[in-house]
This record gives sequence, structure tokens and C-alpha cells, in this order.
Amino acid sequence: MSHGKPRVVILGGGFGGMYAALKFERALEQGAALDVTLVNQDNFFLFTPMLHEVVGL
Ligand SMILES: Cc1cc2nc3c(=O)[nH]c(=O)nc-3n(C[C@H](O)[C@H](O)[C@H](O)COP(=O)(O)OP(=O)(O)OC[C@H]3O[C@@H](n4cnc5c(N)ncnc54)[C@H](O)[C@@H]3O)c2cc1C
Repeated sequence: MSHGKPRVVILGGGFGGMYAALKFERALEQGAALDVTLVNQDNFFLFTPMLHEVVGL
């Protein structure tokens, strides 16, 4: 049993994961004692709703 800070692991950095991470970031800024890790296979965020704009250029 761990006696450290609660650990949060977010699997996937898409819309769900990124917004979860942003919420936890806000909680950390407000003093929450958490250890948050975001795991994603890519080091970028793909904003899918804008992809059709790229095709239309
Ligand atoms: C072209 C397109 C346009 C869209 N337009 C809209 C729109 O206008 N409005 C709307 O509401 N929705 C839209 N959607 C749908 C929207 O993108 C999805 O509903 C949303 O991305 C789902 O979010 P999610 O977090 O569940 O999954 P995802 O956003 O798919 O995130 C999953 C993440 O997990 C990561 N991952 C997967 N497997 C692994 C692994 N084994 N190890 C590590 N990381 C992994 C991926 O890299 C990805 O970053 C669109 C989708 C597409 C494809």
C-alpha cells in the first residue's frame, strides 16, 4: 500500500485524455496533492475537427 500522493495515470492523449489532464492541471494549481501521468503514443495532439480544413486548402 502506497503512503505517497495518489497517482493518476491517464491512458491516451486524445480529447478525453487531454481534457482530463487539463482538469487535473487546474486541480494541481489549486493545491491538490496528486501525481499525474499522461501516457500517449504520440507527442502531439491531433485536432480532428479541423482536418477537413486541411483537405480543403
Ligand atoms: C476527421 C474527424 C473529424 C471529427 N470531427 C469531430 C467534430 O467536429 N466534433 C466532434 O465532437 N467530434 C469529432 N470527431 C470525433 C472525435 O475526434 C472523437 O470522438 C474523439 O477524438 C474521441 O476522443 P477519445 O479521447 O475517446 O479518443 P481519441 O481522441 O482517439 O484519443 C485516443 C488517444 O489514445 C492514444 N492511443 C491509442 N492507443 C494507444 C496506445 N496503445 N498507447 C498509447 N496511446 C494510445 C491515441 O494516440 C490518441 O491520442 C471527429 C473525428 C474524426 C476522425
